[in-house]
Amino acid sequence: MLFCRLEWMKMNDATVETPGGTLYIVATPIGNLADMSQRAIAVLSGVDRIAAEDTRRTVKLLRHYAIQTPMFALHEHNERELAPRLVAQLEQGQSLALVCDAGTPLISDPGYNLVRLARAANLAVVPVPGPSALIAALSVSGLATDHFVFEGFLPSRQAARKARLEVLRSESRTLVFYEASHRVLECLKDMQVAFGLERQAVLARELTKQFETVRADSLQALAHKVEDDTQQQKGEFVILVAGDSGVESHSVHAEAERVLSLLLGELPIKTAAKLAARITGVNKRALYDRALALKQSGG
Ligand code: SAM
Repeated sequence: MLFCRLEWMKMNDATVETPGGTLYIVATPIGNLADMSQRAIAVLSGVDRIAAEDTRRTVKLLRHYAIQTPMFALHEHNERELAPRLVAQLEQGQSLALVCDAGTPLISDPGYNLVRLARAANLAVVPVPGPSALIAALSVSGLATDHFVFEGFLPSRQAARKARLEVLRSESRTLVFYEASHRVLECLKDMQVAFGLERQAVLARELTKQFETVRADSLQALAHKVEDDTQQQKGEFVILVAGDSGVESHSVHAEAERVLSLLLGELPIKTAAKLAARITGVNKRALYDRALALKQSGG
């Protein structure tokens, strides 16, 4: 309680007291510890308990800032079960901070059930904003930022991933994806098939860390780069793809697709892809994958 009042006075020069039982959603660094905000430190030090996605990871952060608040694990496997109990404790006046392994909780991380229940119970849910890989990557991408779509992680199974990318094919807003390092190359290859080889994209790797790289190029060039340099397959990635401009990328793509569709009406997939590649100059493998997708979707 005391903590809440002091903090509000400091930050807002106001005497408003946050009601008891506040749930704080606290962002933490995505790699660089110096990105921890003063307010995050104050809140984590002042709450009754901290719910952490992985206590072994968060304990390092807490040690670094000499924070001694008791902590317990709240992750995707126990959140549904724990959330009602935590809400009951909040209702009794306890304060709680939720953190994830890195970045902002609930952004491809646990916490949705807890926040939903806490809000339904009319409890105060207070953001302590800070790093998020999505916003960090977008802000340096050079791609349009006025409108964007956050897709999070694509499905890990290739058929489902391709189907999802197919749905996003004509999306005109900048697309933002999270991807695991062991899937980044296959993902870029699937994106070539769905969005075309020439679609501009950005690979934001290891943001705020020692080996941070932000590379902007066509999907084809990025895939080549990652394939040729295994170093570029390590670490954490955000993949951003320019929205469909409906103009030049489409003229190459649409023509290849038109030829492919015509040939597919008469020939087996492999032959159709091979001939379409010869006629249009587009990569044979990409056309083959596209032909498979067209067949699967009944096109
Ligand atoms: N809640 C986090 C946030 O606000 O960004 C994201 C958590 S999600 C489980 C983890 C994914 O975020 C990683 O697989 C990667 O795609 C992305 N990510 C996290 N840290 C990153 C970093 N330092 N550089 C690039 N991508 C990162």
